Amino acid sequence: MPVINRIAEFHEEITGWRRDLHAHPELLYDVHRTAGKVEELLKSFGVDEVVTGLGRTGVVGVIKGHQSNSGKVIGLRADMDALPIVETTGKPYASKTEGKMHACGHDGHTAMLLGAAKYLAETRNFDGTAIVIFQPAEEGGAGGKAMVDDGLMDRFGIEQVFGMHNMPGLPVGQFAIREGGMMAATDEFTIKIEGVGGHAAAPNKGIDPIVIGAQMAVALQTLVSRNVDPIESAVLSITQIHAGEAFNVIPATAVLNGTVRTLDEGVRKLMEQRMGEMVPKLAEAFGAKAHLDFKRGYPVVVNAPAQTDFAAKIAREIAGKEKVDTEVAPVMGGEDFAYMSNARPGAFIFMGNGDSANLHQAAYDFNDEIIPLGCTYWVKMVETALPAS
Ligand SMILES: [Zn+2]
Ligand SMILES: [Zn+2]
Repeated sequence: MPVINRIAEFHEEITGWRRDLHAHPELLYDVHRTAGKVEELLKSFGVDEVVTGLGRTGVVGVIKGHQSNSGKVIGLRADMDALPIVETTGKPYASKTEGKMHACGHDGHTAMLLGAAKYLAETRNFDGTAIVIFQPAEEGGAGGKAMVDDGLMDRFGIEQVFGMHNMPGLPVGQFAIREGGMMAATDEFTIKIEGVGGHAAAPNKGIDPIVIGAQMAVALQTLVSRNVDPIESAVLSITQIHAGEAFNVIPATAVLNGTVRTLDEGVRKLMEQRMGEMVPKLAEAFGAKAHLDFKRGYPVVVNAPAQTDFAAKIAREIAGKEKVDTEVAPVMGGEDFAYMSNARPGAFIFMGNGDSANLHQAAYDFNDEIIPLGCTYWVKMVETALPAS
């Protein structure tokens, strides 16, 4: 079953919303215009309820089916925020705000979910309630967490939740998903080493934090190679080393920053625990002190088995069996949909954006050709999960 005809009729209108959002990108929680547009459109579709200000600037639309015997509630989520990037697409609808752009396709995600909401509010051919969720601050601000903390799941009685991201490089008309860890936990750390500074010609009179930092940078890699189960995945990258001001002075302190990416909560805990043990002890071995500040970021996006099967089934109905990869390699990037799929069982799917520039690149653009597919995915999901009798 390809695209729903009625949705194909909306294609141009939805493309118009998408390009309007694209021209007016907003960052993190500061998505007032975008949220305003979403609110205005949801109201114009005649949805049953529109709630704003959830998770600061998040918007939720409630759409009830013709029947409400089942009591079932499904959550569909899109993200609204852009990135601090100077756009180079040269498109007529390119960003009107220098230094901000929709380089992750959240304009497309929002437009597709709006298109689905329009169709669902018009047809209501299901038994239960569809909740359309528009979140702010996906790009590092944990807007998904803010909405969950504001009671998103309980307030609307959401039982399962689904998310979608466009994927450059994946051909148009293809979907990709996997059960279990799909996108990584993104944690950050800072290590501060306190040695004793002094003359570079008399290292014996001090404690050199640079030599200790260098040992640490190497030793920490053994957490991945020697402590994590070889079948599991982890990345530890030290991305900054700051120390010293002069050629002939041993500095008193050194600071190492970096990130840890994992696909399993157990591995994540292991990395945090072993870093906590290794950092101070390694420093102690050299007569110095070191402090680890491990800052947990987005959790792992874990696709629940039943929801993954269901999402793949819907994708297959739209795209055809051979166009849905159900064992796609996980991505070590993060996604704050994780907070929603931690709160309720859920599944996150990638949809092909075709041969476009990569996400977060200045030349990236969402592919409007895929709009009807994304809308159909959402609609079929609701009509199948909440079937009308
Ligand atoms: Zn992004
Ligand atoms: Zn994104």
